[in-house]
Amino acid sequence: MFSPVTGKSVIVTGGSKGIGRGIAKVFAREGANVAIASRGEEAGKVASDEISSACGGTAYHVPCDVSDWESVKSMAETVAARSGGIDVLCANAGAFPQTKIVDMEPSEWDQVLATNLKSAFLCVKACIPFFERAGKGRVVLTSSITGPVTGFPGWSHYGASKSGQLGFLKTAAMELSRYGTTINAVMPGNIYTEGLQDLGEDYLKTMAASIPLKRLGDVEDIGHAALFFASDEASYITGQQIVVDGGQIIPESLEAIDEI
Ligand code: NAP
Repeated sequence: MFSPVTGKSVIVTGGSKGIGRGIAKVFAREGANVAIASRGEEAGKVASDEISSACGGTAYHVPCDVSDWESVKSMAETVAARSGGIDVLCANAGAFPQTKIVDMEPSEWDQVLATNLKSAFLCVKACIPFFERAGKGRVVLTSSITGPVTGFPGWSHYGASKSGQLGFLKTAAMELSRYGTTINAVMPGNIYTEGLQDLGEDYLKTMAASIPLKRLGDVEDIGHAALFFASDEASYITGQQIVVDGGQIIPESLEAIDEI
């Protein structure tokens, strides 16, 4: 049995949709005060209202652009003032436009790196004063299998950003240890989000068939991994990453899947 996160102050960046919304739901269901940090006010409010009424705990929206320092700093201060500090940061917000290198404008590269990688640095930096004050804290990054483990045409910038998060993680783990704070990463495989619904039933079935556990991941599968890293029981784990992908990266060929 894990110690409860009841009443803890948890930030989930990108919590208005997709995986972030799943993470926010899991923490709220366990009684946490969840701050959803994202740009879109309406989507953020809809998500936080739904999570508060359906899951218990409290969820509220704080407008934030994770690629902008002033915005991130102000978000962390707002959360700390409202919830009495910051216990857990789930740095999850991300963007994944698909453009091949030959067609990619340098500005798109910069934008993706700023949203996915620089944001991890900015969010951690903004939370440090609150972790220092409390003498403890938890950070969970949402990385990906794409980049650190696999490649996909059109996602060179995305893959670089997701690998970069894991590079950041190692040194951050050392620096955050002086504040009693751990930092770890979840590396999702193909997770079923609103964005994937547009790809159509046939495409989704084909994707599921290539995964040993024969289903796409649920957003709450990532939430549960984040909850574990945020738990008291995970207090001796830092600088680590866990793949949550239903075994997707294991098969060495399509034939291997057919042998199951
Ligand atoms: P999603 O459904 O598109 O949601 C993205 C979330 O991030 C939204 O809440 C969005 O809200 C927010 N966001 C985007 N840019 C932002 C910015 N500059 N500042 C603040 N918030 C921002 O994405 P997802 O599929 O759930 O992905 C979430 C994370 O999981 C990403 O880091 C992604 O790389 C990772 N991941 C996803 C999958 C997958 O299968 N879905 C697999 C591996 C890894 P606003 O636009 O309103 O700001």
